[in-house]
Amino acid sequence: MANLALRLPENVSGDFFVDSTCIDCDACRQIAPGTFADDGDTSIVYRQPADAEETRRALMALVACPTASIGTTKHHNARIGIDAFPELISENVYFCGFTAESSFGAWSYLIVRADDEGGNVLIDSPRWATQLVKKIEAMGGVRKLFLTHKDDVADHSRFAKKFNCERIMHLNDGAERHGVENVIRSEHPVQLDQDLIAIPVPGHTRGHMVLLYRNKFLFTGDHLAWSPNRNSLIAFRSACWYSWSEQTNSMQKLRDYEFEWVLPGHGRIHHDSVTNMQAELERCIDWMNRV
Ligand code: SF4
Repeated sequence: MANLALRLPENVSGDFFVDSTCIDCDACRQIAPGTFADDGDTSIVYRQPADAEETRRALMALVACPTASIGTTKHHNARIGIDAFPELISENVYFCGFTAESSFGAWSYLIVRADDEGGNVLIDSPRWATQLVKKIEAMGGVRKLFLTHKDDVADHSRFAKKFNCERIMHLNDGAERHGVENVIRSEHPVQLDQDLIAIPVPGHTRGHMVLLYRNKFLFTGDHLAWSPNRNSLIAFRSACWYSWSEQTNSMQKLRDYEFEWVLPGHGRIHHDSVTNMQAELERCIDWMNRV
């Protein structure tokens, strides 16, 4: 829970506040944009929740915050925020909430599939939290844990042990060191299941991969995201740890695929038609070639 003594003075007065331990991960601003805003190196509360739904979104942000930097001066039923996760995004794809500080608040996702379709897939690791683990267990557990890259592995080993699932990660991002069961060694796409393709996209890190589900949902880790400021798909030039030219080449590989959703670890989610998404991808590649 946040510390009232560390309450940032930039918060508006009232119940909800952000304290100075905030790491500016952006999760709260995505989850409850009516309450939280960017204030340089931190988030702040710019407007107090005005009704029950805004209060629920603010409590979800409180639960999702990786550093417990969001607090309230009044008592609230914590279950309102906790029980909201995993939150349905579309069809059978969920956002897990409960982000981890070790992955700088990266978002993780859950695909719920029947056993005969290959079972559930967790994409990147959320924070280990008993409440979330119980919910995932009730939703069918985890059969596969896909790790996009080395920055967002968080509590992967605890999830793997609990659910006895197969972890999937690329060799070039330390998969062997992490004890991963399915080490991807290829530079080429790997069909994991009928509806699931792992696509190596070196650039942000040497062993980064994205996961394409049903030719519709692309889980992009830190390779590709939506920027509301630029109103376009982007890659993170200033957070490219391996090779920008490699990342640009990797982005071009995505031309071979159709998808309607970009679901990143950092940055914003984006949904559009296949045609519009392909046009956005072209704009992104063009921009990457120029910067
Ligand atoms: S979720 Fe927490 S750490 Fe992330 S920006 Fe909001 S207050 Fe800061």
